[in-house]
Amino acid sequence: MDFCAPKGGKMEQFTGRVVLISGATRGIGKAIAQSFLQEGATVIGLYAGNEAAADHFRQQTVAIANRVDLRRCDVRNHQEVCDLFPSIENTYQKIDVLINNAGIRRDAILAMMSVSQWQEVIDTNLTGTYLLSKLAIPLMLSNKFGRIINITSPVAHLGFAGQSNYAASKAGQVAFTKSLAKEVARKKITVNCVSPGFIATEFLDGLPPELLAEYKKMVPMRRFGSPEDVAHAVLFLAGEKAAYITGTVLEISGGL
Ligand code: NDP
Repeated sequence: MDFCAPKGGKMEQFTGRVVLISGATRGIGKAIAQSFLQEGATVIGLYAGNEAAADHFRQQTVAIANRVDLRRCDVRNHQEVCDLFPSIENTYQKIDVLINNAGIRRDAILAMMSVSQWQEVIDTNLTGTYLLSKLAIPLMLSNKFGRIINITSPVAHLGFAGQSNYAASKAGQVAFTKSLAKEVARKKITVNCVSPGFIATEFLDGLPPELLAEYKKMVPMRRFGSPEDVAHAVLFLAGEKAAYITGTVLEISGGL
C-alpha cells in the first residue's frame, strides 16, 4: 500500500500547509515527510545527492505526486540555498513549516580530526540550519504563521568522545533555536528543537555491532528509537495546538 495515502475520513491536520524538510528522502527526514504527507501537507524535500533514495521516495508517493516536490540542494552551499527560494515563492507563495533535519557525522577524536571533518559537520548541521531559516522566515512573516523545528541531539548537552565537531554543531543548533525563538516570538512563528536519541537509520551505519550493543545498554528503554518516534514529536510541534511552545528542546531518546 502507498505509505503516504491520506487516512481518509476527517480533514487531515496539515491540509494546505507547505512543509520544507532538509534531508527528506532517507532516515528520520523521510519519516517526517511521510507523516506530513499522510496528514495532507505539501512537502518540499531537499536531499544532498543520493538519487536512488530520491527516486525510491518518488515511486512510493506517485499517487500524491502533486504534493511532493523533491529537490537536490546542498544545504552547506549558500548559492544553492538562495537559488531555491524564488521558485518556492513563485510556486507556493509561503512556507508554513521548516524542518532543519539534514545532518552528518564525521567522528574522530580531536587529535585526529581534520579541518575538513570539522568544517563539513559544522557547515551541514549548523550553517545549513542558519541558511534555510534565514531564507524561510520572510515567507513565514508574509503568511503570519510559521513553525521551525531543528533536529538536534542529546550530545549537545551530554557530549560524546569522538564527536566534538558533531556535539558543537548540535549545541549550536540549540543556542540558535533559543535566540531565534525570541526574535520572532511576536510574529506567530515558533522555533523549537527535537532531539532524537539513538534512532535506527543509516546514520548509525559503519558502527561496529559490539559498540551498537553498548549504546543500546545506555538507553533506559533498552531499544533504539524508530524514525516514526521522532516524526510524531515533530508533527506535534508543527501543529496549531503547539502555538505557545517556543525555544524548547523536546527529547525523544527512550530516557537517555
Ligand atoms: P541519515 O544519514 O539517514 O540521512 C541524512 C539525510 O540528510 C539524507 O537525506 C541526506 O541526503 C541529507 N543530507 C546530508 N547532508 C546534506 C547536505 N549537505 N545537504 C542536504 N541534505 C543533506 O540521517 P538520520 O535520518 O539518521 O539523521 C537525521 C538528523 O537527525 C540529523 O541531523 C542527525 O544529526 C539527527 N540525529 C540522528 C540520530 C540517529 O541516531 N539517527 C540521533 C540524533 C540526531 P542524501 O540522501 O542525498 O545523502
